[in-house]
Amino acid sequence: MKGYAPGWQIRCVKCGFTVDASQGGVIRIGGIGKDYTLGKCERCGKWRMLAIERSGSEASPMERRKLIAILVLFPWLLTAGIVVIVTGAMKASGAYQLAMERIQNNPQAIERLGQPIQSRMFVGGSIRNGSADISIRVYGPKGAGRCRVCGEKNHEKWKLSLLTLVFEKNGEMIDLLNESASPSGAAP
Ligand SMILES: [Zn+2]
Repeated sequence: MKGYAPGWQIRCVKCGFTVDASQGGVIRIGGIGKDYTLGKCERCGKWRMLAIERSGSEASPMERRKLIAILVLFPWLLTAGIVVIVTGAMKASGAYQLAMERIQNNPQAIERLGQPIQSRMFVGGSIRNGSADISIRVYGPKGAGRCRVCGEKNHEKWKLSLLTLVFEKNGEMIDLLNESASPSGAAP
């Protein structure tokens, strides 16, 4: 194995099996970087990504930095994972879908936000025990706004008790449950 002095090892990133760099029959792949190679792991018996690193128990400064980065990132990744799961569950909920349907078909919302009206990635609030109180940020080509949605689920059917849309531009609020409602401040 040319290019690697003794004292280097090749480690299977999948199972952790380690061999001396001079023994491992490896093929370097360009573009991936000098720390990795593709090779057949003796333990897995499969082609794996192999890390090329200095032998010995002490992690190189680079590896230590990676480890620290992972430890720092982990709680954030965990939180992000939970948020993604919770958001996914909320977006799958009938309350969310009902609200989005109303928003997307509301003439005032269409006029002010443009079409198509889409929701931002994250949903705020909570849905539990058949009761929803969520906030959805929506946007279209012409503007953005924030919706508040409250509803209850009865016999597997959601009924919204509140659905408002506040336009980001001027803070004006419209009531989407009452289609004929005039904008706030100009109450009948
Ligand atoms: Zn392996």
